[in-house]
Amino acid sequence: MKTKEKNTKENNRRPDRNRTPRKKPQTEFASLGLNPKVLSRLEKLGYEKPSPIQREFIPIALTGRDVTGQAQTGTGKTAAFGLPILEQMDLRLPSLQALILTPTRELSEQVANELERLGPNNLKLAVLVGGRPIRKQIQTLEQGAQIVVGTPGRVIDLLFRKELKLEEIKFVVLDEADRMLDIGFRPDIEKIMKRCPTERQTLLLSATMSDEVERLAKRFMNEPARVDLSEKDVANKSIRQYYISVDPDRKITLLARLLLQERPQQVLVFTRTKRGAEKLHKAFNKKLKNIAMIHGDLPQQKRDRVIKDFRSGKTRMLIATDVVGRGIDISGISHIINYDVPEFCDDYVHRIGRAGRLSSVDTGQAFTFVTREQGSQLTEIEKRINMLLDEYELKDFSSLRPRPPKNY
Ligand code: ADP
Ligand code: MG
Repeated sequence: MKTKEKNTKENNRRPDRNRTPRKKPQTEFASLGLNPKVLSRLEKLGYEKPSPIQREFIPIALTGRDVTGQAQTGTGKTAAFGLPILEQMDLRLPSLQALILTPTRELSEQVANELERLGPNNLKLAVLVGGRPIRKQIQTLEQGAQIVVGTPGRVIDLLFRKELKLEEIKFVVLDEADRMLDIGFRPDIEKIMKRCPTERQTLLLSATMSDEVERLAKRFMNEPARVDLSEKDVANKSIRQYYISVDPDRKITLLARLLLQERPQQVLVFTRTKRGAEKLHKAFNKKLKNIAMIHGDLPQQKRDRVIKDFRSGKTRMLIATDVVGRGIDISGISHIINYDVPEFCDDYVHRIGRAGRLSSVDTGQAFTFVTREQGSQLTEIEKRINMLLDEYELKDFSSLRPRPPKNY
């Protein structure tokens, strides 16, 4: 049986199997909204936690929305698009539901391999690439494939021979879009996309988003969400970044004063914990209108609604925890407030990345509340982004009580 052959392949591809501790539950992957079967496969593969692109990309893609993802090579983009597709496909149906285009034969084979590892044993995949016997590929299609991975040239060939039918396609992926364009696949991609049903989800992955890639996205995607983890975003200089020293028991007051002084168009406030988010929501809900909260305990539907309202501008202040915050695809927010210092430096970068990029708001502002004990955490963040944050001055308000005398 096919399954047997696959298991051996899987085992061979897992050299570090024995080093992987198996105890930890897949909490972080679980919080992205993946089902238990997938989670246990990830655990077996030794995927302990999602990579940054996976963390951001997966929750958005799971909503069915078109998404572009930009991240360096080797950052796990395959699983980033593969998992949401496997999750959303109807695996009981034998029909061809997903088409994944990649620039080269090797990449197609790699993607197919990864999808085989991520998907159920009986998943039916066809790899359609040049330089391999076409007859065998036709046979595979005849036996029925649920996912096709291929290069544009060979895919077109099989389309024109009417061996490949795209009527039932629900998911299209343009993987390594920049390289596909470099190779000159644009006309082929156009022809293929035109034959895919318009009611579909399109995902685009690329290490760079050149103007050409942007044009491709514009033409074939429907208001795509964007996940950008390219390095330039890391030290986003167009965002003015401040810290404010504060005593823990004055944080709520500080937030209120800051809002009063800044009067932000829209503000995203990050807390470290769900309880923290709830506490804050409670504190401000009565005073302010158009405020919402989002964290991992809310059902997906509710989360979608909250994000939609924030994106549309209906909600002016959104309080969020990191896990969900990462999945929030909204850019051009005027103000980001780190009510709690993020636990990891990467989280800081992701939080801040929501401000002012790619939009009419070209300078966002970010504020990080720091208690006296958290000075070293601030330093870590500054090292990570390679710049120093400025201290922000509030008018007529002291967020710090005077220090007790030194030899107290
Ligand atoms: P990219 O497409 O961004 O170049 P790949 O999807 O090819 O990256 O992934 C690179 C490698 O990382 C692959 O060997 C893949 O199996 C592995 N990988 C992906 N996601 C994870 C994860 N969350 N944990 C551990 N390994 C991962
Ligand atoms: Mg890749």
